[in-house]
Amino acid sequence: MSDKHTPNALLPDNIAALTAYSSAKSEKLTGTTWLNANESPYSRETSISLAALNRYPDPQPASVINRYARYANLEPEQVLMTRGADEGIELLVRTYCEPAKDSIALFLPTYGMYKVTADTHNVAVNGLTQELLLEGTVDDIVDAVGNAKLVFICNPNNPTGSLTSVEKISAIAKRLTDKALVIVDEAYIEFCPSHSATRLINEFANLVVLRTLSKAFALAGLRTGFTLASAAVLAPIRKVIAPYPVSTVVASIASEALSGDAITSMRRQVTILNALKEKLTQWLNASTSVLKVINGEGNFVTLKLADKSAFNRALEQGLVMRAFTLYGENDWLRISIGNEQELEQVKIWLDSLVPSNRSVKQDVL
Ligand SMILES: *Cc1c(COP(=O)(O)O)cnc(C)c1O
Repeated sequence: MSDKHTPNALLPDNIAALTAYSSAKSEKLTGTTWLNANESPYSRETSISLAALNRYPDPQPASVINRYARYANLEPEQVLMTRGADEGIELLVRTYCEPAKDSIALFLPTYGMYKVTADTHNVAVNGLTQELLLEGTVDDIVDAVGNAKLVFICNPNNPTGSLTSVEKISAIAKRLTDKALVIVDEAYIEFCPSHSATRLINEFANLVVLRTLSKAFALAGLRTGFTLASAAVLAPIRKVIAPYPVSTVVASIASEALSGDAITSMRRQVTILNALKEKLTQWLNASTSVLKVINGEGNFVTLKLADKSAFNRALEQGLVMRAFTLYGENDWLRISIGNEQELEQVKIWLDSLVPSNRSVKQDVL
């Protein structure tokens, strides 16, 4: 049957050309140890009331907004609650970019949703490199950004863990005043809080910070994120966002997660996870089955395997990690920092690789 007799004939070209975003969870993998989605190993109980669900929720629940503002050291009007940081990305593109005309800039390799969102909205992508962002001068970077409306800086960057200094972000924002919004995605900032760019929000009207409860706050299932920016940047986004984006249930749990005690316990967990990351990095550096280890910030470590089949060996052992193509090479792997037991599974897998490596080398000789 030809395409024109199917609903596909109705699709705009940019939608027909989309390939579905392959998130860590959409891949149909089976396993027992899940270290592929940068989730926290900690889960918590909640005791929320389910009364009053006959009423529509507060569109921007005051208790959550006030608590997050206090946590981020901002004013409540500088905080927008969204369904994950992913919705923040989408709202920025929908609000600030004109389809078929505007573009966004990003620094590869980086988080996949910026491009997916741009493609979905028929907005062009100016794909620059992390190398330019980290080693280039502010002049080089601003030149390369060209007339992109939105500039996404993932900090620390997923999946490389690299950090761009707040000074550099500040200089870029300054140069792009009235030209572009500089969006700093701080999904992993709790693992290196002194590097946050939120303090620049009061200084630059074009600076936006994205945050989430999915990583250090251990609430990936809740779908809660925050877009932090000047009230002037958020005002048009407030017109575009759905009328009741946040359910009453989500708001209650998010508010609980932002109590003083809960933030203290999150910080304690971060300390433990950062220490486990060091331990894992040492194991990886010592393994002959690993060629390179990128030990950056964030709750993950990214590495290049000596032999790609090691990934399948892990799956056979029930150990699920995230395979990546980086720098055109398909033998990279990202390991999320789980609990001690889960990382022990990684150690068992690493140790199981050594003999087969040796025998391969002997075969060659
Ligand atoms: C996980 C992640 C997000 C998505 O966060 P949600 O709040 O779960 O939508 C955004 N940005 C980066 C860089 C991430 O790694």
